[in-house]
Amino acid sequence: MKRRALVAGNWKMNGSHDFNASLVREIVLEIKRFPDIDVLVCPPAPYLDAVGRQLAGSAIQLGAQNLCEQPKPGAFTGEIHGGMLRDVGCAYVIVGHSERRALYAETDARVAQKFAVALACGLTPILCVGETLDEREQHRTEAVIARQLAAVIEDSGIASFKQAVIAYEPVWAIGTGKTATPAQAQEVHAFIRGQLAAADARIANSTRILYGGSVKAENAQSLFNCPDVDGGLIGGASLKADEFVAICAAAQ
Ligand code: PEP
Repeated sequence: MKRRALVAGNWKMNGSHDFNASLVREIVLEIKRFPDIDVLVCPPAPYLDAVGRQLAGSAIQLGAQNLCEQPKPGAFTGEIHGGMLRDVGCAYVIVGHSERRALYAETDARVAQKFAVALACGLTPILCVGETLDEREQHRTEAVIARQLAAVIEDSGIASFKQAVIAYEPVWAIGTGKTATPAQAQEVHAFIRGQLAAADARIANSTRILYGGSVKAENAQSLFNCPDVDGGLIGGASLKADEFVAICAAAQ
């Protein structure tokens, strides 16, 4: 089965009204050239509404970078419920990004709760998995990723991946300028697909698995050519319209 590619921009904690407006203006102008892929931007929460309004009528979808693990809204100061993300037009939400796992102590169990709430709210979770440099050097990449995936599969069930995306993001490649080689990426993507296939071959075949970690215009094509790489989760390069558009062109 040929899977439709997805290119998602994770703006992280960057942007302002003016910066976002000019970035979105440029991307929207170019996006018509890429009818065969899905494109998504994930601005910081305060800007979701404004960016969503600017995207209205374009093919670019809106995503959030995080959500609260609580199933219902209520007295959780500073948190954002998945229903609110839907309300402002989000279709996707990133869960388990390595920065949240490392800097905000998000455990596998917490990530699994967030994944379940995202689904219950009608959002498509983008589940990030990936190993640190130490874990890779200790040949623990597969064990770490199997554990991260299992937490979600055990909690939400394999069928939940009919409405979910996985992003393989080796932690050592995020924001470092070091990209996994296409062979390294393909090896782990095939492993992830194999983990899904052990539970359900059809779902494994249809689930999109993105690569993330210092993807740029110059390396995107070789990564996207890998048979199990179905697009990218793009951090730094998604803040530059020409780079992001070139990455979309590579996925088209
Ligand atoms: C990310 O934060 O998801 C990411 C992949 O960042 P970068 O592209 O900057 O490495």
